[in-house]
Amino acid sequence: MPEFCDVALPVPLDTVFTYRVPADAMPVVGGRVLVPFRQRRMTGIVVELHDRKPSVTTKNILRVLDAAPALDEQLMRLGRWIADYYLAPLGEVFRTMLPLGAEFKRTIGYRITEEGQMALHLAGMSGSPARSRLTPDEQAAEFRVLDYLAARASETRSHHMDANGKGTASAVPLLAAGGPALAAEVSALISETTLRSATRSSRAILNGMVRKKWLVREDLSAPQDATRTMKIAVLKSAEGKLNANQRKLVDTLAASGGKVPVDTLQSLEVPRTTLKTLTRRGLLEIAEEPADFFISHTKPRPSPFEFDFNSAQQSALARLRESVETRKFSGMLFHGVTGSGKTAVYLAGMRAVLEAGRSAILLVPEIGLTPAVAADLHQIFGDQVAILHSALSDRERAEQWHRIKRGEARMVVGTRSAIFAPVADLALIVVDEEHDASYKQEETPRYHARDVAVMRAKMANAVVALGSATPSLESYFNATRNKYALVELPDRVEQRPLPEVEIVDMRQEFQETGHEPVVSRKLATEIKKRFNRKEQVMVLLNRRGYSPVVLCRACGKKLECSNCAIALTHHKRERKMVCHYCGYTAPVPKACVHCGSEYVYFLGTGSEKLEELLHGMFPQARIARLDRDTVRGHEDFERTLNALNEGELDLVVGTQMIAKGHDIHGVTLVGVVGADVALGLPDFRAAERTFQLLTQVAGRAGRGESPGKVILQTYFQDHYAVQYAAHHDFAGFYEKELRFRSWMHYPPYSALANVLVRSDKLDEALRWSGMLGKWFEQSRHEGVRVLGPAAAPILKLKRDYRYHFILKSASREKLNAALRAMLAYAARQKIPRTQLIVDVDALWLM
Ligand SMILES: [Zn+2]
Ligand SMILES: [Zn+2]
Repeated sequence: MPEFCDVALPVPLDTVFTYRVPADAMPVVGGRVLVPFRQRRMTGIVVELHDRKPSVTTKNILRVLDAAPALDEQLMRLGRWIADYYLAPLGEVFRTMLPLGAEFKRTIGYRITEEGQMALHLAGMSGSPARSRLTPDEQAAEFRVLDYLAARASETRSHHMDANGKGTASAVPLLAAGGPALAAEVSALISETTLRSATRSSRAILNGMVRKKWLVREDLSAPQDATRTMKIAVLKSAEGKLNANQRKLVDTLAASGGKVPVDTLQSLEVPRTTLKTLTRRGLLEIAEEPADFFISHTKPRPSPFEFDFNSAQQSALARLRESVETRKFSGMLFHGVTGSGKTAVYLAGMRAVLEAGRSAILLVPEIGLTPAVAADLHQIFGDQVAILHSALSDRERAEQWHRIKRGEARMVVGTRSAIFAPVADLALIVVDEEHDASYKQEETPRYHARDVAVMRAKMANAVVALGSATPSLESYFNATRNKYALVELPDRVEQRPLPEVEIVDMRQEFQETGHEPVVSRKLATEIKKRFNRKEQVMVLLNRRGYSPVVLCRACGKKLECSNCAIALTHHKRERKMVCHYCGYTAPVPKACVHCGSEYVYFLGTGSEKLEELLHGMFPQARIARLDRDTVRGHEDFERTLNALNEGELDLVVGTQMIAKGHDIHGVTLVGVVGADVALGLPDFRAAERTFQLLTQVAGRAGRGESPGKVILQTYFQDHYAVQYAAHHDFAGFYEKELRFRSWMHYPPYSALANVLVRSDKLDEALRWSGMLGKWFEQSRHEGVRVLGPAAAPILKLKRDYRYHFILKSASREKLNAALRAMLAYAARQKIPRTQLIVDVDALWLM
């Protein structure tokens, strides 16, 4: 065994760390190890085993956690590519790729030192401790802790000596050696004692004791077994006489391949004894299996899923299958209008992959994974599907990971991080709604799952299929340059027409009515018509809350968040002012906080106010709202959509949440209120985002038999994003936008990175960004344009002041070389890595 191993640790440092391999340990490249790091214990991934003795002294690995690689060679390569491309620390990339945090329990302990023993002894002699800034209760708490730890130390020591004479290295990890107590125990002692006069938290008291060297803090973190099991009924035989209840259970089992969670059977309204009787007769068996979140929540389906395709879908599927069968890398872009049945084509392609015994991954945007979608997936793929969504606990996520790794689930469907699923023999990756911003991770590593998907497909000789009704400029550009094959689905299924879009110019509305109505006369009339015909309506307003701005008429100042340079939004029902960026809340002001004037005005309209307005206009209508305030989980979202589909609602108001591809049958009118706000933002993607949002929400209208209509209220009626969306003209929008990007040297014509310098001290943020600015000027990176430093559009966010640079280059290599050199310079200048955000291919420049 090599003597040393290099480990990538999840810390914000661009380096790996070398440890010594103990004689009896067998780490593997790609496997996890537990190591000491500074005062802590951490799990990291082994990246290399070698015999090169480092110049610094090395510590031993504490424990080898995986006998076989957790990340296979291909995923290791993908991780290195991400670290390189996005300039992210390798260890942080691996942590993102491997969702096994639940298998490691973070535990802190405290142990008494000799100084602590001495302090305890002296206090016992004099009766009164030395002068201190602590209250008497807090001092009492300190001595209770010392007393407790001293007793514990002697107890465990003697117990330990009795047990085996000299102390065990690994079998009894840590808790036996000298007797640290868990932080929770010690904190409980303190809070009991200091109830009456607690000016400090128990954590602060413990920190003080550590500073006085009475205690040492120790990291007792350790891996733990994460496998959870559930009871499964397994059908053994369907022979013999059965009564109606028994028949029901046996049929249910037979219909879902002979295996169903016991919980599911018990929800079938059959007496509990029926299950026992069948077990006693030997017709079924109860087994323990690793828990699978989704199987346990899904009712078994009676029949396999059948696809019913039109000719465009059939030829798209044929092209997909052909590409997969070549076993070579290729990229495809499925550009299909809303309602063209793209998703069914991907799913059929994936089922073909499954039938060939290979694997596929389907990425979907965050809001797309409702329980109804999950049920469909189970119907199509049986129990070979693993569904990874954001509502999974860490433990459930780890369980799904192991299922996939064991080869039990070869079809993986999930949001962004599902791109790292450890499937073997990957044949196909599908990225649905590839333009969706939720594919970009907005924390380190700042990867874009679509672009990682393309790279993973390349490494695996697999096919990557991107799909959207409104492809991103980058992807469509690649398709027109033959990097991807373009598959067009120009018609809605069953020849349903695209909705008619009518633009209402809100400037004219103001001139004619003399005020600024939220709902125009035209939209109000059309809504009334739909209600009379018992049809349904959706109204989009992409801003939540009641009023987005509170302004003082006396001094002209806005009420801002105390952590961010952002106006607080009034939330009427919660009676609060809320910051939508950091969650800060404040009471609703009766007077101006700046000058005390009572003339505070609540301006503008959010979705909450729009809902109220519509209630006032149509008191008889049944109205619901879908936004982040009314939707806490997938179930809330689904409940409202179901109510709409069941005809229990007449109108739904919502933010962009309602724009995403959900099939709703009875909606014949979509109203768009203030969807063009984004056009005023200083962001080069504003037009693209607006076009996408307008096109997607228009696509919700008239998907059933009735043709749809869209009323688009706007102040920017001549803007090309609005005009092309109104005419369902993607190609026109694309041409025009592409020209703008070309003039301005923006993606797809250049690679772009946003470098953000942040600090909670304004002078520090200014100084660091000034230093970097000078350095960029002096070091002259040929072929790289550097804009900045400039104040970020949101100058203060979550208490940090923010300055930024935008770097553009026609050459990806030159851009990354400049960024890498900048990081090295920043490290030499001791600018902390965590205060310097490098966002390659940034989606937001705010
Ligand atoms: Zn004021
Ligand atoms: Zn804030």
